[in-house]
Amino acid sequence: MTRWDAVIAGGGPAGLSAAERLAARGCSVLVLERNHEIGSPIRTSGGSFIDELDALGIPSHLYHPISRVVFRSPGNEARFEFDKPALCVIDVRGVFQFLAERAIAAGASLRLSTAAQSAIVEQGAVRGIRTRDREIAARVVIDATGYRSAILKSAGLAPGFRRFGVGAEYDLYAPYCEPDEVILAVGSDVAPSGYAWVFPWGRNRVRAGVGIIHPDSPSRPQDFLDRFAASIPSLRKAQPVEHHTGLIPAETFAAAFAGDGILGIGDAAGHASSLLGEGIRWAIQAGRMAADTAADALERNDLSRASLAPLEMAWRNKFGADLHLAHAISRRIAQWDDRKWDQRLELVKLLSPGQFVEVLKSNLSGGWLWRFIASNPLAAAAGARVLLRKSFSIPQ
Ligand SMILES: Cc1cc2nc3c(=O)[nH]c(=O)nc-3n(C[C@H](O)[C@H](O)[C@H](O)COP(=O)(O)OP(=O)(O)OC[C@H]3O[C@@H](n4cnc5c(N)ncnc54)[C@H](O)[C@@H]3O)c2cc1C
Repeated sequence: MTRWDAVIAGGGPAGLSAAERLAARGCSVLVLERNHEIGSPIRTSGGSFIDELDALGIPSHLYHPISRVVFRSPGNEARFEFDKPALCVIDVRGVFQFLAERAIAAGASLRLSTAAQSAIVEQGAVRGIRTRDREIAARVVIDATGYRSAILKSAGLAPGFRRFGVGAEYDLYAPYCEPDEVILAVGSDVAPSGYAWVFPWGRNRVRAGVGIIHPDSPSRPQDFLDRFAASIPSLRKAQPVEHHTGLIPAETFAAAFAGDGILGIGDAAGHASSLLGEGIRWAIQAGRMAADTAADALERNDLSRASLAPLEMAWRNKFGADLHLAHAISRRIAQWDDRKWDQRLELVKLLSPGQFVEVLKSNLSGGWLWRFIASNPLAAAAGARVLLRKSFSIPQ
């Protein structure tokens, strides 16, 4: 039986990015993807940030820049104009397949239509992956299966998530769309405990969707989607070309995502920011960091938890404060009623376009936010300082 250096379950952005980096470091690597096509069916809206994607090497023809964001509550609205676009919406299939191409070019192997069923565990250590009809041996296994965390769960490393963002979305051809304008909308009529969005991604194509946090709200996003899309004037005469649904963990990253012979990355480990349910660039980042940790461990020929745990530490040190804070805020705002949202938008309006983007990016633990609160009486009066302090102590 062939024994791979690394077998990765899941050919999403996390798994493909890990595969590329591992292969580039000279490791033999196999990616198993349950679907018959990389990047399909689409389960994401593709909103992201230009600087971060550029830094990750995503070519600019695969994203569509955004120059205006309109943030609506039932009775209020904040608008942000960007001279230099900071946000973008990606061509999801294009980006995911680009990551696959890069992984293949680096030497990785991909097997489609192959679901990883469980980890092969021997004497407490993961030694490979079981599919429906075979066992595949690996020195290290990486779970990149998304919200299911299929392999981490089967290895007993993670219990699975309990809080999820549940999304339903149309990808529309919209002849009268505002091509450079993103709309974010909150309120009980639009998306109880979540938000709705309009994301144009070029060529008059627009993703319009509704995301609702379960179990914070029992509502189903699909029940709100048609009404929301019909309420947007620029979507008149639009018709759906695709219908997407998906889940994303709405929790902070797992306490442990490294075990003996196994790592978890991306949504499987809760690496996304739960503030907006934004995880693509985080997944790419996690994939690359995990690959470096795994390649170092392979070189040492030590695939124990102790040898793989530096990934947990590196992730926590680099992103822990921001992601924990983003999650604490997500839990709080999921409880806000329409009146509270209308009030809080007055606060949002005080942000400059650049500051608003920092919030969307979950860059929350830096000094800029504290300075903003300290210098704005309305922010201080609204108890934002208290909220932030408390947020740090909210349990995961
Ligand atoms: C409705 C919705 C909207 C979103 N909008 C945005 C957004 O605007 N911007 C943003 O950045 N993020 C967004 N996200 C989140 C983003 O999609 C994820 O955070 C990101 O895709 C995570 O990447 P991943 O590689 O960890 O997992 P995934 O992208 O989920 O990839 C996992 C892959 O593993 C495969 N797989 C699953 N189980 C198995 C198995 N047993 N064996 C083999 N393969 C398996 C799946 O088919 C899939 O290809 C959204 C999510 C949802 C649900």
